[in-house]
Parts: sequence; structure tokens; C-alpha cells
Amino acid sequence: MRFIRRSRRLGQSTAPISTQSDACQSNDLRAQLRRRRIASQRLVPLDCGCPDPWPCRCTQPALSARMVDAGRDAARDILATGQVPLLEFEILRALWRRGGADRVLAEQLHAATGGEIR
Ligand SMILES: [Zn+2]
Repeated sequence: MRFIRRSRRLGQSTAPISTQSDACQSNDLRAQLRRRRIASQRLVPLDCGCPDPWPCRCTQPALSARMVDAGRDAARDILATGQVPLLEFEILRALWRRGGADRVLAEQLHAATGGEIR
């Protein structure tokens, strides 16, 4: 991302006053992430024990067998139309762990997407 500041006063040039180089932007991103991490250390830990709410996935419901079945059935329907579905990693892993036809489907989807996961 590049930011260009321009003068807003009438009669002044609208030429860029300053531009940031890519190295400067990566330093900015690094500084932003560092400030974010330091700010998260000031937060009260969540009930689940996670110190930072941003990466916390504790409140997401566990993957049920029904959700895995739904992912499998949706993937089969999409494959029947000639398209390649992009399943979530957790569903793909659950299908693979089931073994049998579900594992074959999971390996087929993994190969068809070139290893790309959602
Ligand atoms: Zn958590």
C-alpha cells in the first residue's frame, strides 16, 4: 500500500509531498504489528485463557460429523458440475481422517486444488 499526501489548500501544488518506499512500508507494518502485540499484552486474558482476542478461535463451535458430511456432500455436488470446490482445511482434514471413500475424496480435492486450502 502506498500513501501519497497532497496539499489541500487552494493555489498550492498538488504534487506528492512524500512517498514511502516498499522498505519503509514493511517497517511500518512491522512497527504496527509490534504495537498491536504490545497493546494485546495490556488486555485482560479471555475466559478461555488466550491473551489476545484476535487469533482466538476458542469460541468457534467444534466441527461436528454433520458439518463434515455437509462439506462432503457439497463438494460432491460441486464436482458433479465440473467445478472444483475449495473446502476449509478442517473439513478436508476430517474427511481424510475418516478414511475410505472420504479419504479418497479429500485426496482428490487436495490434488485438484493444487494443495490450496481455505
Ligand atoms: Zn481462546
